[in-house]
Amino acid sequence: MPALACCVDAAVAPPPGYAFAWDSSLPAPEPFFGVPPPTNTTSATTIEHSHWSPSLSSALYKIDGWGAPYFSVNSSGNMTVRPYGTATLPHQEIDLLKVVKKASEPKPSCGLGLQLPLIIRFPDVLKNRLESLQSAFDFAIQARGYGSHYQGVYPVKCNQDRFVVEDIVKFGSQFGFGLEAGSKPELLLAMSCLCKGSPDALLICNGFKDAEYIWLALVARKLLLNTVIVLEQEEELDLVINLSQKLAVRPVIGVRAKLRTKHSGHFGSTSGEKGKFGLTTTQILRVVKSLEQSGMLDCLQLLHFHIGSQIPSTALLADGVGEAAQIYCELVRLGACMRVIDIGGGLGIDYDGSKSADSDISVSYNLEEYAAAVVQAVQFVCDRKSVKHPVICSESGRAIVSHHSILIFEAVSASVYDVPPMSSHGLPYLVDGLTEGGCADYRNLHDAAIRGEYDTCLLYADQLKQRCVEQFKEGSLGIEQLAAVDGLCDLVSKAIGASNPVRTYHVNLSVFTSIPDFWGIGQLFPIIPIHRLDQRPGVRGILSDLTCDSDGKIDKFIGGESSLPLHEFEGDGGFSGGGGPSDGPHSFAVTLAVPGPSCGDVLRVMQHEPELMFETLKHRAEEFVHDDNDVMIVMAVLPILPTLKTSSGHIVVLELVLAFPSQLFLSNSSFVVEVVCF
Ligand SMILES: *Cc1c(COP(=O)(O)O)cnc(C)c1O
Repeated sequence: MPALACCVDAAVAPPPGYAFAWDSSLPAPEPFFGVPPPTNTTSATTIEHSHWSPSLSSALYKIDGWGAPYFSVNSSGNMTVRPYGTATLPHQEIDLLKVVKKASEPKPSCGLGLQLPLIIRFPDVLKNRLESLQSAFDFAIQARGYGSHYQGVYPVKCNQDRFVVEDIVKFGSQFGFGLEAGSKPELLLAMSCLCKGSPDALLICNGFKDAEYIWLALVARKLLLNTVIVLEQEEELDLVINLSQKLAVRPVIGVRAKLRTKHSGHFGSTSGEKGKFGLTTTQILRVVKSLEQSGMLDCLQLLHFHIGSQIPSTALLADGVGEAAQIYCELVRLGACMRVIDIGGGLGIDYDGSKSADSDISVSYNLEEYAAAVVQAVQFVCDRKSVKHPVICSESGRAIVSHHSILIFEAVSASVYDVPPMSSHGLPYLVDGLTEGGCADYRNLHDAAIRGEYDTCLLYADQLKQRCVEQFKEGSLGIEQLAAVDGLCDLVSKAIGASNPVRTYHVNLSVFTSIPDFWGIGQLFPIIPIHRLDQRPGVRGILSDLTCDSDGKIDKFIGGESSLPLHEFEGDGGFSGGGGPSDGPHSFAVTLAVPGPSCGDVLRVMQHEPELMFETLKHRAEEFVHDDNDVMIVMAVLPILPTLKTSSGHIVVLELVLAFPSQLFLSNSSFVVEVVCF
């Protein structure tokens, strides 16, 4: 993509020749600058601000690659969300900056008075993802004349948030979409959510299971939830047989097969023959035998496998699905009443927009290609074995939820990379104190600059600096001169663009609650500015989390970059430019605002008891605070301590749906349908 590469380069450093504004930024150092300065006096600043557009930002940040059809940039240079994907009409696009203003402006100016960071959810996007997945399978099934249907489940572990799970059950009930649970708490929440779902929706019980888990799953069947207990370990079978007899429930059983097909990427480390989950061929045969002996072989109805997340290509997918389909057919031959093939998760997300099969954060296929590969692989094997086509189930997690929520955080400050202005007396200081060698370096540096030999410039600048540092250590160079040479070197490297100073933008990311995947497993997410995208990002930066001082740093970005093109920091909170949230028409309504944890919540997680702490501090105050005024102040503050917002956790979850402007005009107060503020 040469056009893109060009944009990236342009954002980082203006092309040499334009950038080297030596003549204007450096006071003419008389003793050496006998030669006239270069005539190309085009100012670097003019170049940086001209020739930029929202579409160049879109290309620079690869928005179409990872964000289409849900994210784009509008003509004002703001990020917009397209809640209905490709079916979104222009007037339905949601301007993210307006949302953030609405959320963060104080209440008197019609805002919600919330603090950043915010997680903003778009239920419409979630709905669109679910429907797109369903229709991709529906299409593949119809196009190929496949003899059964697709019926997916959502693996709760991918986002256990109540509103996400409830929404999925609600939006998916028209096509019998179900849930997958991997632990007792997940099973509990899945059971209660599915009470409102379609009666056909599957409730797949995966994960390590003890007697309580199995007991709960059997109870779920009694409640007429379409529950399948998937054996992940051979030991689970005896528990299932015994408990189901005790409870007099006929269970529906699945087996998780350990496939030989191996996904070699990061997320596939548990796949393959040596993977830690699932039953081997031998174990599956023993399970069949035990079930047969207990008269329960008809209970075995589902075959499950999971190759790993981010399956890189449809070739690997088809390989795995084909292998599993063979096992499925063998189970049919052995007499099980097989009905469903559950292909697990792994439908990948193209986080960097590169459509590449060689990266953990990208995949080389789209939804339609994924569905077609699965349907074709199952159909091919079953047709050859004359086995009735099974219901195809998948457990796509990230593919369903990833696009629908975004974390918005604010750059609070930025480390300034100051090129110290070379004061007119800086140079004389420098020049006066230089040794003969230093003078020669300085002269050579200047000559190289005139000739446009930038590498040579850097070389001499560096040499000069080293010499001066040595002199300073010996005591023969003053601190002003040392500063002057630093300034000169910075100026040279900045002008050449070679040092490409990367700034640190301080952000409140609440890293421990919002991006654990980043530091935990190196997962990269697309990160971009949500406004000023009509301006050229003139600097590069990394992000450093204010709320934690060691690991809270983001210095890896999509595209293999170690810094992010950013706009020069403006210390006004960043959202200026334009008035309050009431500006212009809105096409959205905030339907829910949920605060993050308080200090008390956070303390309780680690078994501290905020109420006891309060008592301890109160006793301390009674003992040591005697001034009446101080007593009043302290006693007023103590009770609110547990309710204080935490710096690392005051994430606010906002939910947005698209609303027609005409509805919003009816009553302004209906903007906020349901708000819980702190
Ligand atoms: C994690 C997991 C999933 C979801 O994987 P995605 O890559 O998010 O689709 C599905 N099934 C099982 C068993 C899992 O462990």
